[in-house]
Amino acid sequence: EGYCSPSGPIESTHCLYETVESLNHDLFPSLHELVTYPFFKHYKVDLFKECPFWYENGFCMNRNCGVEEANEEDIPEKWRQKALSEIKVSSAENEGVSGCYFKEQDFCYVEDDADQNGQYVDLTLNPERFTGYAGDSAHNVWRAIYEENCFGLSEASLSEYSKSTSSNALSPSGGLGGSKKKEITNAVLGAGGISRSSGQGEVPGWGFSKLSEGWGTEMVKSNLGGADDGLCEEKKVYYRVISGLHASISIHICSEYLDQTTGEWAPNLDCFISRLATHPERLSNVYFNAVLVLRAVARAAPYLRAYDIATAPTLGSGVKAGRESDKLAKTAFDKVLSLAGQGGMDKGFDEGDFFIGEDAPILKEQFKTHFRNVSRIMDCVGCDKCRLWGKLQVSGIGTALKILFELDDKALDPKINPDLLQRSEVVALFNTLHRISESLAAVEEFRKIYAATQEEE
Ligand code: FAD
Repeated sequence: EGYCSPSGPIESTHCLYETVESLNHDLFPSLHELVTYPFFKHYKVDLFKECPFWYENGFCMNRNCGVEEANEEDIPEKWRQKALSEIKVSSAENEGVSGCYFKEQDFCYVEDDADQNGQYVDLTLNPERFTGYAGDSAHNVWRAIYEENCFGLSEASLSEYSKSTSSNALSPSGGLGGSKKKEITNAVLGAGGISRSSGQGEVPGWGFSKLSEGWGTEMVKSNLGGADDGLCEEKKVYYRVISGLHASISIHICSEYLDQTTGEWAPNLDCFISRLATHPERLSNVYFNAVLVLRAVARAAPYLRAYDIATAPTLGSGVKAGRESDKLAKTAFDKVLSLAGQGGMDKGFDEGDFFIGEDAPILKEQFKTHFRNVSRIMDCVGCDKCRLWGKLQVSGIGTALKILFELDDKALDPKINPDLLQRSEVVALFNTLHRISESLAAVEEFRKIYAATQEEE
C-alpha cells in the first residue's frame, strides 16, 4: 500500500495505479491551490500563429471557444516588456551559455514571456472544459498528431483512430455493442474500481484483464497487427504520452459538459463511458502521464525549490498583500514538490531505461522532432481555448521530457544553471500536472456517479 512496486502494472513505469490515486488525494488539492497564484496563473502565449500544415479556417463560432485575455495592469510588474528585455540581455551575458544550447534540448516550441506577439492569459478565467469544438477541424488535428507524427506508429493510431472517427462528440456512441459496453463499463467504473488492487501483472481491480488480456500493450499490439515485439519502449512512451493527453482533454470535456437544454455545466456520464470507460487503455495512458510528469518534477525539485516564483511589487500599495500571497504560493509550491517525490513516486518512471540502445541518438532526435511538430500542429486547432490548453499541455509535457531525457543532475543544479527553465516552462509544467491530476480526481468522481446510477437501477 502506498508505495511503488518495481513490477507495478502501469506499463513502462514502476508504479501501481492505486499508488498514483492515493497520492493524488493530497496532490490535487495542493496543485489546485498552486495554480491560482499569480506566478502560475499567468501564461503568455501566441494564439494567432498560422497553421503551418494546412489552411485552417476552423473558426469556432461558439462563445465557449473564446479566451479571455488578462488585463495588462494585473500582470506582475517584473514581467512587463521593458523589465524582461533587460533580464534577457544580462542573463545571456552572465551565464555565457548560448541560448541555442537550451533550444537544442527543447522537445517543443517554448512560449516566451519576452515574445512581442504573445498575449497574457489568466488561466483561471479560461477553464479547460467542453467548448463544442468538434468535427473535421478537431479530427484533422488529432489525425495529424497520430498519423503523421507518431514515428513508426502511424498505423497504430490510424487503427484506433479509424474505429470511431465518424462518432459525434455530442451524441456519444462508442463502437461497442450494448452488453459488451456495459460489461467493460462495470469493470472500469464498477465495484472493483482501480483503487482495489489485485496481484501483479494484472490490471489492478479494473477487472478488465478478464475481458482483454494485458491491455496495457493491447492497443499497440492490436494496432500493429499483433506485432509489438519490435516496438521499442521509446515509441510506446511517445504513443502513450499523446493518447494520455488526448484522454485527459476528453475527461475534462466530459466532467465539465454543457447541457445544451438546461444551459448548465455538469459531469456527463455517457460522455465519459463512451470516450473513456469503454477504452481503459486511454485511461491507463493518463496514469502513465501522471507518473512521467511527477518523476520529472521530483527530479527537478532541487532546481525548482530555488526558482523565484515571487511576484509582489517592490513599491506601492500592493506590496504587503503581494508578499503575503508570495509566501502562500511558496508553501503550496514546496508541498507539491515534496509530494511529487513521496511514496516512491520519484522512482515510478526510470528515464535511464530509455534511449540507451545503439540507435539511441537517432531515436531521441526523431522523438524530439516529432514532439516539436506536435507543438506546431497546435497552431492548427480551430478553437482559441482548446489551442491555449493544447499548447500549454504540449509545452508542459515537453518540459517534463526535457528534464527526464536531456538534463543530467549537474545541469539541474540551480547554482550552475539558474536560468535553465524559462518561467513559461515552469508554468506549463505545473498547470499540465494540475490538468492530469484533475483528470484522475474526475475518474474517481465518475466512479461515484456511476455507482449511484447502479443503485437506482
Ligand atoms: P475525438 O476526441 O476527436 O477523437 C478522434 C478519434 O481519436 C476517436 O474517434 C478515436 O478513434 C481516437 N481517440 C480518441 N481518444 C483517444 C485516445 N485517448 N487515445 C487514442 N486514440 C483516441 N473540445 C472541447 O470541448 N474542449 C477542449 O478544451 C478541447 N480541446 C482540444 C484540444 C486539442 C489539441 C484538440 C485537437 C481538440 C480539442 N477539443 C476540445 C476537441 C475534442 O478533443 C474532440 O475532438 C471533440 O470533442 C470531438 O470528439 P470525438 O468524440 O469526435 O473524438
